[in-house]
Formats: sequence, structure tokens, C-alpha cells
Amino acid sequence: MENKKPTIATLGEFGLIDRLTGDLVTLQKSTLKGVGDDAAVIACGEEVLVVTTDLLLEGIHFNLMYMPLKYLGYKSVVVNISDVCAMNAVPRQITVSIGISAKFTLEMVEEMYEGIRLACERYEVDLVGGDTSSSLTGLVISITALGTAPAGQLTYRSGAHHNDLLCVSGDLGGAYMGLQLLERENEVFKVNAHMQPKLEGYDYVLQRQLRPEARTDIVEAFKKLGIKPTSMIDISDGLSSEILHLCNSSGTGCRLYEDKIPYDSQTKEMALEFNINPLVAALNGGEDYELLFTIPVGDYEKIKNDPDITVIGHMTKAEEGVLLVTTGGSLIPLVAQGFNHLTEEET
Ligand code: ADP
Ligand code: MG
Repeated sequence: MENKKPTIATLGEFGLIDRLTGDLVTLQKSTLKGVGDDAAVIACGEEVLVVTTDLLLEGIHFNLMYMPLKYLGYKSVVVNISDVCAMNAVPRQITVSIGISAKFTLEMVEEMYEGIRLACERYEVDLVGGDTSSSLTGLVISITALGTAPAGQLTYRSGAHHNDLLCVSGDLGGAYMGLQLLERENEVFKVNAHMQPKLEGYDYVLQRQLRPEARTDIVEAFKKLGIKPTSMIDISDGLSSEILHLCNSSGTGCRLYEDKIPYDSQTKEMALEFNINPLVAALNGGEDYELLFTIPVGDYEKIKNDPDITVIGHMTKAEEGVLLVTTGGSLIPLVAQGFNHLTEEET
């Protein structure tokens, strides 16, 4: 029988990571968690250190036609800080590595660094190193963030139990709608460079795409409310994909209620204008950088009056499946439809 070897395209991003790292063994006692969560966890005296890294490539993760360099610098820091938040830890330091192609001037690189500095100030993190190289293929930015937490306070993707409440911070789908708007105006611009982009009145969704913030405030709120989520992840790839990560890591199923998903009014208006169901923007859009987490039912009283936290479902036994309960009451299995850069199409 023919035994077909998978390709990078058939494996996809997560399949590839599994294949490359699935049989890694850790030799250091201090390696408390290696591959498989939002950050690695390393024992460090009384506290633990969390370490996370992200790679951003021009033409894949950002388009300089509509992403100002200052915003790009800011956002590349934020996406890493968001992963530190997803561990319930406090960000402390970052390193920044860049590859610059010949088209970049000193002013452009300085502008990007202005954004990086602003994010460092805003999140009180120190930029402590990095690396600089030339690049043949456009701009490359890789940022590593370090954070700390008392060991007992960390939240992993794997701690959810059936009956836990599934909660999300903020609102969803905005970053995706902002991207749709920027892409539409960019297409118009490509056809007629004299046309001014129509961006007025869309500031919320644009800000969600161009200048997201990491939810350090939610991590602080957990401390004040006396809550330690049983599991947590940040929403970089869309709600579907992140719910599946929590369920797979925790060995649970889930019910997500369509009518509970929080949207900003501008996201809903934009979705109507673009003829896109806002549900699709929330489930598959990604880049909202909100926190998705589970808490025991007994903690409901602590979060119920927090306007920044919404209960969107509950965890179930694994055999019950990972399901969306639609407004009409139908049950639909959730599938990960985040943008898969490795297969270059929506999977
Ligand atoms: P996130 O979306 O939170 O940034 P990823 O999906 O990128 O997380 O990564 C999932 C896990 O796989 C993380 O633990 C990450 O460190 C690890 N990982 C990703 N790519 C590689 C790689 N090339 N080699 C080793 N580990 C990797
Ligand atoms: Mg993450």
C-alpha cells in the first residue's frame, strides 16, 4: 500500500509544529513547559519566567501599503505581550530582531522603532537586545517577550474542566472588519492613486486592526477579583481556532452560544456594509488579541458585573463535541478556519 508522506501544505501550521516538535524531550529541570502553549515556562527562583516569540514578515503578516511603520512597530510588541497575558503573567522585557531590505531608509526604520518604544513605555517593558540583519525579501521582525508570575498563578491552555464557563474579554471581529476596509481602500488606490481612502467614521475597527492593545488590564483585574482562570489563550487566529486549542489541550468539549458573542456596534455596521456575517469575523477573523479563558461556575458572581468580560459558553465532556449553538438553536461543530499562511488559503 502506498504510504503518502505529508507535505508542509497538507500538514498546515499546527500539523507542522507538531511534527517538528512532537518528540522533543526536555533535559533541564527548570523547563516547566516547552512547546505547546502561548509561552514556554521556566523555573526561576521563587517565580517562573514565561518566554514567547513571534515572527512577522512583510507580505504575509502585514502590508506596508496600509500599515504605517510606527503602528507596525507598536503592534509587533503588542502581539507578544498578549501571549504573556495569556499565561496570566506580567510582561517585563523584550528583544527585537529585524531584517531590512534595501528599500528601507533610516527614517523608516526609526519610525518603526518609535512605535516599538511607545509600546515599551505603555506596557512598562524594557527593550534589552535583539539582532539586525539585511534581508532580500522585505521587512522581517521577530520579537521575543519575557514575563514573570508566581508559579501557582500561571494559566495554561490545558486546565479547563467540563462545566467551566467560557469567557472572553472585550469584543470580537473588529480587527477583521478593519482589515477588510483597509484592503478595499487599497484596491481602490491601486486602480486610481488619486482617490483618497474613505476611512472616516471607521476609527474603531481601524484601531482594532492597526493599533491593537494587549489585555494586561484583564490580568490585573483577575488579581483584584481573586480569580485564576482554569485555562486561557489569546485570540490571535480567531475564536474557533482558539476554542479548539483550549478543548484539545484540556480534553474537553464546549458549547459556544452565537447570541452571546460580544461585538462593537461599528463591527456590526461594517459587517452589514461588507455583507459579511459578524459571526464569521469573530470565529475566523483573528487578530483581536482579546483573552479567551475558562473559570469555575462558582466564580461567576465575581465577573458578572465586569463590562469587559462576557460569558460566551461552557465547557462540556470531550465526547459531547466542540459546538456552536446558533441563535436558531442548531448545533454546528466548530472547525478551525483561521488564516493558514502555510497553505496560503483559508482552510
Ligand atoms: P501563538 O499563536 O500563541 O503565538 P503558535 O501557534 O505560534 O502560538 O505556537 C504554538 C506552540 O508551538 C508554541 O509553544 C510555540 O513556541 C511552538 N512553536 C512554533 N513554531 C515552532 C518551531 N518552529 N519550533 C519549535 N517550536 C515552535
Ligand atoms: Mg497565543
